[in-house]
Amino acid sequence: MSRQSNPVVTELSSGIWSTSPLYQNAVLDLDLAGRKMGIDPNVLDRLKAPKRAMCVTIPVRMDDGSVRNFEGYRVQHNTTLGPGKGGIRFHPEVNLSEVSALAMLMTMKCSLVGLPLGGAKGGVRVDPRKLSRPEHQALTRRFTMEIINMIGPEIDIPAPDVGTDGQHMAWMMDTYSMSKGHAIPGVVTGKPIEIGGSLGRVESTGRGVVYVIEHAIELLRKKGKANYQLKEMSAAVHGFGKVGSVAAHELAIRGCKVVAVSDFYGAIYNPKGLNVPEVVAYMDAHRNLKGYPHAEVITNEQLIALDVDILVPAAIDGVITAANVKNVKAKIISEGANGPITSEAQAYLEEHGVTVIPDILANAGGVIVSYFEWVQGMQQFFWNENEVNEKLAEVMAKAFNQVASVADRYHCGMKTAALISSVERLSKAMLLRGLFP
Ligand code: NAD
Repeated sequence: MSRQSNPVVTELSSGIWSTSPLYQNAVLDLDLAGRKMGIDPNVLDRLKAPKRAMCVTIPVRMDDGSVRNFEGYRVQHNTTLGPGKGGIRFHPEVNLSEVSALAMLMTMKCSLVGLPLGGAKGGVRVDPRKLSRPEHQALTRRFTMEIINMIGPEIDIPAPDVGTDGQHMAWMMDTYSMSKGHAIPGVVTGKPIEIGGSLGRVESTGRGVVYVIEHAIELLRKKGKANYQLKEMSAAVHGFGKVGSVAAHELAIRGCKVVAVSDFYGAIYNPKGLNVPEVVAYMDAHRNLKGYPHAEVITNEQLIALDVDILVPAAIDGVITAANVKNVKAKIISEGANGPITSEAQAYLEEHGVTVIPDILANAGGVIVSYFEWVQGMQQFFWNENEVNEKLAEVMAKAFNQVASVADRYHCGMKTAALISSVERLSKAMLLRGLFP
């Protein structure tokens, strides 16, 4: 690649990919990091748009006999470092631009934590709460078939995300395997253990979210900025799904007082601290938090504004924005979700001394253990849960320390530092591989 600036940039970043705020924020953040590190402008331009995307329509026979068509997407943002990797989201607001932004974040995440994987993402525009189990299965299988030429253990490996779980991955693996004539577990990660999943995968993202909070507390202590103890702190968790429920549990077992958690319908709050295992059991039984007896009901907006030490946004993107950031009182925020804080809100938080552990670092635990699952599957040799957790902790600690040292080197916040770290590795690889043809 030549090092001259490339006028194509504006066209790429204002095209079909960039209609969502999440995409616009991701490009803004990347630009900021790129300018700070003085990156080759051609590399920066290339990273602003995905490599490839597929848009499909998925016909599904519903339980009432009617046929409904759903929109689905699979986007590979960058595959310089290895096969694409990223979840499949079932959510009513999924669109091409949002999925493209999430694929970009996956590229950055995999590069940051040193995995030999690229970035991808997929999604279906559907409200998963309104589908029966047979409808979920039919949708997942037909979607897999529609994108089958784009995925594979050496091409692009999906995983669960919002609205999907291990069962969806089992259906995807089965559909893919049926089309090839033999079992191919490596086509997805986040599978149930019985069909080649990894111990510790379900908990990995939430665990990682808490590991980095512990590192942040340690760093603040070392720098003489604060002397926090997790067991004396309080926390609120926005989004009580696969990531948020585990993060809340991990905080609680370390003695932190989790005073509020929320889901799509609203939040529950108990200033004395919630009994997290009991809330998890209630959620499992009722599928939402409505009616939980030992707490008062508040809104998601009120949860964001609670006077707590730690806030874990673990639901969706664009939750903390210029409109509500001034209400945030937490001192440490660990981004369990992808893109929960807009660029404007991020700048405000940094100016006001809030430690924000960025998504591509904070929630990388999931993709790290997905990578372990892929490796274990390829070797047909499975590790015990302690081994998985130890290796996860090791990779997260290394990535955290690297981001902290880049933040010192460039005098910037952790978000920019994480992107710089990530792009440093990725741009070297891109330049070494060169531009084809
Ligand atoms: P999930 O579907 O298991 O849980 C999502 C939670 O958010 C649910 O409690 C849901 O009710 C709530 N929610 C959805 N929309 C909401 C809204 N508008 N307001 C408030 N709450 C809302 O999903 P998950 O897998 O836990 O993923 C959560 C976030 O973490 C997403 O941003 C996802 O991309 C990110 N993430 C997930 C993983 C993983 O391993 N699952 C890994 C990395 C990042």
